[in-house]
Amino acid sequence: MLDSILESLRVVALPTKTDFRSIKVREVALIEGPKGWGEFSPFVEYEPTECIPWLVSAVEAATLTPPEILRSQIAVNATMPAINGKDEIAEVLSWFPGCTTVKIKVGADLKDDLARIATVCDLAPTAKVRIDVNGMWSIGKATQAIHAIYDICNLEYVEQPCSTLEDLRELKKRVGIPVLIAGDEVVRKVGNPMEVDLHDAIDILLLKVAPLGGIKKSLEIAAHHGKPVVVSSALDSAVGISYGLQLAASLPSLDYACGVGTGALLSADVATLPIVGGMMKVNSVAPDRDRMKEYAISPERFDWWRARVRETWEAGAKDWILREGWTW
Ligand SMILES: [Mg+2]
Repeated sequence: MLDSILESLRVVALPTKTDFRSIKVREVALIEGPKGWGEFSPFVEYEPTECIPWLVSAVEAATLTPPEILRSQIAVNATMPAINGKDEIAEVLSWFPGCTTVKIKVGADLKDDLARIATVCDLAPTAKVRIDVNGMWSIGKATQAIHAIYDICNLEYVEQPCSTLEDLRELKKRVGIPVLIAGDEVVRKVGNPMEVDLHDAIDILLLKVAPLGGIKKSLEIAAHHGKPVVVSSALDSAVGISYGLQLAASLPSLDYACGVGTGALLSADVATLPIVGGMMKVNSVAPDRDRMKEYAISPERFDWWRARVRETWEAGAKDWILREGWTW
């Protein structure tokens, strides 16, 4: 199967509109199998072991019939990077037409964070706000920050305020206001997401299809933990986003807007997946050949990605895929 994967491999470098995650160009590998296209786009600093579920997800998309879809469109949130100028914030909001929930990146500096949240609420006074801290706060800092934020906006939930489950559990005890906590890294960055005990630590589970190893695995994780779910993306191309949308559409229940509108942060993409009235249609997409050519990566970077696919395969993706019995 590795030969087929490598034969179909295309890699693009997509420019971003802002330096979200300090990234100005998003490199994305795409593969085409018997059932369609899959995306393999772990961030470039990830080691092969961390890339394994990303490759499994791409191969699943390329080789399996898509899951049964329970909804045809998905409500999405706007995603606000850690920027502070009022004009820039207004511009980013305009990329998410009709979205009534805004996810705001915070954590580096509380003063800047509060200013950013206040500006968003000023520009979108009826919006629900969810903040993503990426585990950057201590319990004490989180308690102080959550109180300050709770006072200035319509706070829906706080994503990963502290990095460990122990700290999240302690924070929930201490915070003293009815705030919902969502877990992302505590599930996504652990060896086995089925083994973590989320009890009393988080209220909402973030699912990202690629880093969790595909739709089948993500559905298993959701069923196992039995928490409300928010599907999110990782600055994927339209191919990866469409897979996240298919996951969101196949979940038995979905109570929150999903964070799969991040394609709006790219200034070019391999296919078009627009946000209309705060919603995205659930479609499997094929990348446009001309756009893949236009944004094709340099030959040196292509060789790097080819080697990366091979390394990830050998590091454990092969065993996982053979165990699943998927054929190409
Ligand atoms: Mg997150």
